[in-house]
Amino acid sequence: MSGPDVEKNQSMLSLATSERTEFFTESVIREMTRLALEHNAVNLAQGFPDYDLPEVMKKGAIEAIEAGLNQYAITWGTKNLREAIAKKFKAVQGLEISPETEVTVTCGSTEAMIASLFAIVNPSDEVIVFEPFYENYGPDAVLSSAITQYVSMKPPSKDSKETEWTFDFDELKAAFNDKTKAIIINTPNNPTGKVFTRKELEFIAELCQKWNVFVITDEIYDHMVYDGLEHISMVTLPGMRERTITINAISKTYSATGWRVGWAVAPPAITKSIRKVHDFLTVGAPHPLQEGAAKALGLPQDYYKKLLAAYVYRREFLLKTLQNAGFEAWKPYGAYYIMVDFTDLWERNQEKWKLNNELDFAHWMAREIGVAAVPGNGFYRIPFYGRTKLRFSFGRRNEVLQEAAAKLAKLK
Ligand code: GLN
Repeated sequence: MSGPDVEKNQSMLSLATSERTEFFTESVIREMTRLALEHNAVNLAQGFPDYDLPEVMKKGAIEAIEAGLNQYAITWGTKNLREAIAKKFKAVQGLEISPETEVTVTCGSTEAMIASLFAIVNPSDEVIVFEPFYENYGPDAVLSSAITQYVSMKPPSKDSKETEWTFDFDELKAAFNDKTKAIIINTPNNPTGKVFTRKELEFIAELCQKWNVFVITDEIYDHMVYDGLEHISMVTLPGMRERTITINAISKTYSATGWRVGWAVAPPAITKSIRKVHDFLTVGAPHPLQEGAAKALGLPQDYYKKLLAAYVYRREFLLKTLQNAGFEAWKPYGAYYIMVDFTDLWERNQEKWKLNNELDFAHWMAREIGVAAVPGNGFYRIPFYGRTKLRFSFGRRNEVLQEAAAKLAKLK
């Protein structure tokens, strides 16, 4: 039977796929990568760093393969990697954690997030998410049968002194109630580049303690914080250690998004549940790559300093490029994304471009200008809210950013 015949047969049998998959679409981010490949566009859409990964890390993985470490590792992660994670946690967060009872190695932070939600959420529990949000959190909530409460973050307005995205404390307060089970925080933030301040985190912490709520904090961009700002981990705030799940991965910091090695750090009782879910979801992350990752986590401070310096340069470069091209671009204080609004460009060129509506702009830009970015609708619960926004990633080599700049200049 060929493809169309199979489809016809299925509809005759009324074989329906699950209702939960009706509540979300395929990833807008991954779709743009496919489109970039199709049109040979410079891909500033999906956030993957394209520089070479550290030599020790590569060697670590190769040696592990050669040493025969090719079967399953312990499901919650190799001893070497869990110990390296605990050591790094001590260095970054200043906290002693047990590699035996508080660390779960997962297939990337993506699995860490969904395993954490499965581990703590009951159907119809509420989970609070800041919007715009990293697109995975939406489907994650649907898959774990949670009800999502969104709290909006607003970009700095043109005439205010604010330079950071902010949220309204009263709106957040109103999102908590006795059904609230967890809040998801992502700092430094994807897609806005916001770095949550101590004051904001303390406010969230107070509400979490008042309503007895978990925090799942995705800190995958913790080494990308600019302008002398400080990365603050929720787990370090008083009273938060017992209720916080801290997620991270090697993907961004060590340029290995394809290795799929991440982790969740949580108190023993929560870790027990996360490990159970993780075991049945994926059994484990790739064994030899865990050994390589353990080596990466042991890199000296100098590595992170150089990484940061490179990103500071790229941020300036892309910010100027986007502003020169006619976008309203908000300066990010962390992570490697720049959110822009293209209302002005749209109003000036709408007739010439002949597009149906703003939602077609990102596709048009990939096709006609040759630069792919993520359309803003991927980060909002209602696509309309993000229709005039785009997210660009500067996690790319300088020459790639230069090529993108030359193409984006055509927009003017
Ligand atoms: N986190 C990256 C982004 O936001 C990659 C997403 C993905 O495809 N897993 O672009």
